[in-house]
Amino acid sequence: MARGKLIVLTGPSGVGKGTLMRMLLRRHPELYLSISVTTRTPRPGEIHGRDYYFVSRAEFDQMVANHQLLEWAEFAGNCYGTPRQPVEDQIRQGKWVVLEIELQGARQIFQSFPDALGIFILPPSMMELEHRLRHRASESEEAIVRRLERAKTEVGAANEFDIRVINDDLELALDQIEAVLFAPKEPLPETVAV
Ligand code: 5GP
Repeated sequence: MARGKLIVLTGPSGVGKGTLMRMLLRRHPELYLSISVTTRTPRPGEIHGRDYYFVSRAEFDQMVANHQLLEWAEFAGNCYGTPRQPVEDQIRQGKWVVLEIELQGARQIFQSFPDALGIFILPPSMMELEHRLRHRASESEEAIVRRLERAKTEVGAANEFDIRVINDDLELALDQIEAVLFAPKEPLPETVAV
């Protein structure tokens, strides 16, 4: 059986990665989305095992010590990581696995899986990103400021990814991602502006 493929989707907090992911999975149920573990508290509506596995810091540290995470990072005061076993199992079975992770984790994945396809989602502008983060209203002012600071660093690293997609219009952004995923023989465009 053909070996699977690893797809890394990264972009600043508030850029709409989660929404894009959900739309992509609805259109392509054959894709496998890795569910991360995190020490962050659940937001209203988030479900353990669907959005994340919500764990304590001690549980997270234990997973790190046991090499149960493929990559992990600290982000805005919380820890996030990709459980190793399910991803390796899916790849072995020839599945395409999608990781929706931040920059430090993406870099770790590119080191261990040089063939992984990196997609970076950009906001139309930093002002628009701030607006979206504040509109979400699920974080404290302090957390929003931390996320915005981090967003600047992440956007500065967009060139480390195979492609960049600007998320202005969700449908168009999704079309661009699909074009890259499902027409792999096409040369990869430098930047995909939508
Ligand atoms: P949020 O708290 O908004 O759900 O996620 C914060 C950031 O952590 C987002 O950029 C998200 O992509 C990233 N993230 C989610 N899961 C993981 C993971 O398993 N590993 C890493 N490195 N980042 C993750």
